[in-house]
Amino acid sequence: MRTDDTITAVATPRGTGGVAVIRISGPDAFPVADKVFFAKHKPSAAQPRLMQYGKVQNGDTVLDMGMCVTMPAPHSFTGEDVCELHIHGGAHLTESVLQAVLDAGARLALPGEFTKRAFINGKLDLARAEAVGDLIHATADKAAIVAVNQLEGRLSKKISAIRDSIIDLTAQLSVAADYPEEDIDYLTLSAFTDKLTEISEALDKLVASARGGQLLREGVRCAIVGRPNTGKSSLLNAIVGSYRAIVTDIAGTTRDIVEEVVSMGGIAVKFGDTAGLREGEGEAEKMGIQMARTYVKESDFCLVVLDSRFVEAADREILDFVKDKPHIIVLNKKDLAQYAGEFSAPSIHISAATGEGLEELENAVLSLLDSFVGDDSLRHADAVRLTNTRQRDAAVKARNAVQEAMNTIENGFPADLVAVDLENAAAYLGEIVGLSVSDEVISRIFEKFCLGK
Ligand code: GDP
Repeated sequence: MRTDDTITAVATPRGTGGVAVIRISGPDAFPVADKVFFAKHKPSAAQPRLMQYGKVQNGDTVLDMGMCVTMPAPHSFTGEDVCELHIHGGAHLTESVLQAVLDAGARLALPGEFTKRAFINGKLDLARAEAVGDLIHATADKAAIVAVNQLEGRLSKKISAIRDSIIDLTAQLSVAADYPEEDIDYLTLSAFTDKLTEISEALDKLVASARGGQLLREGVRCAIVGRPNTGKSSLLNAIVGSYRAIVTDIAGTTRDIVEEVVSMGGIAVKFGDTAGLREGEGEAEKMGIQMARTYVKESDFCLVVLDSRFVEAADREILDFVKDKPHIIVLNKKDLAQYAGEFSAPSIHISAATGEGLEELENAVLSLLDSFVGDDSLRHADAVRLTNTRQRDAAVKARNAVQEAMNTIENGFPADLVAVDLENAAAYLGEIVGLSVSDEVISRIFEKFCLGK
């Protein structure tokens, strides 16, 4: 894919809206804009970053009256000359103006190509570019905060700081290699290993942060299970009624399980109301049971709904089925009865009918989610986290390489072997921010972006 031509795309969502933005980026962005936008000054001669009002044309045909702004390289999102046309947001009109820009010589951008160019031109490192995608797709507050932190470069700074320490140590080793007679003593071995231990701990923390980062970014799935008539669907309705429902593209299932995603404590939680988990007679029931069981297995945690009036053997069977999954026992219908028995898992008394106890349930859910991530509470959205598998894999490899370096020292091997391990560690960390990654990996990352980004 060329990176030296001029690309264009509609930057706003498809459909009708107040305003649509068409973005043009590349060496010919201004000459292309000159052919479609007419005002007091041609775009190529206009004052940068100042909106002009004028006519948008395709040849002699006036398509719209709109605004145009230019952002010369390198001070633009992509680092190239960028021009934006702000036009009226009609679906047909937007297509016509896009066509005019294409006719004027630009090429239609691929998904994520603007952000990819920003990366190639050094405007964003890879972790920050990924954050652009995450921010666009964030469905709840905390996911958005994590993405903004990453976009601001907080993750990148942390990675770079660790990487710099590793490179410092490697440099010290090469001094040792140059003066072999003094060998590793030159470094005062204990200070060196202390520093390595510190780095290894920082990497452990970074790797551990990925679980929370992924839970926040992708959302959490909860299976609501229980005997028929305990109030599962009433509970789901009560939750949807009390929390902000999220319209989401979090990967859904096509199975016959009612799912709703809400923002609970700023975290996207997908609740699925499963059918009964116990054996049934007919084929359809058996399939329903199978689905419910699979759903439970694939969930991050469960809410087990019991009817406070009667806790029965069948309930115990269900509790037994979910015993290895993190779960909360929901004693429903507290308006009718209060169950006094004890359970081995946290239990909450609620009434799905009146909404009583929902806050306690929310707290129990958030505490449970926190227990997934060690001391790195999900409520601290501010924490710097790894947010995807690519970043995590690279951090794990970096950590392993640092541990390898420590083993190498322990086994008394020479400094240059330790240096090889440390160089590997630095290279893996570099991958997170986009140093030393293959074109293929880069393409794969940006393909997932939407068109116009
Ligand atoms: P499901 O089969 O587990 O999904 O149960 P439903 O949500 O359909 O509820 C079964 C019955 O219990 C319905 O008649 C509900 O109105 C009733 N119900 C559910 N929750 C409560 C509650 O908290 N209090 C009372 N009094 N009735 C409830």
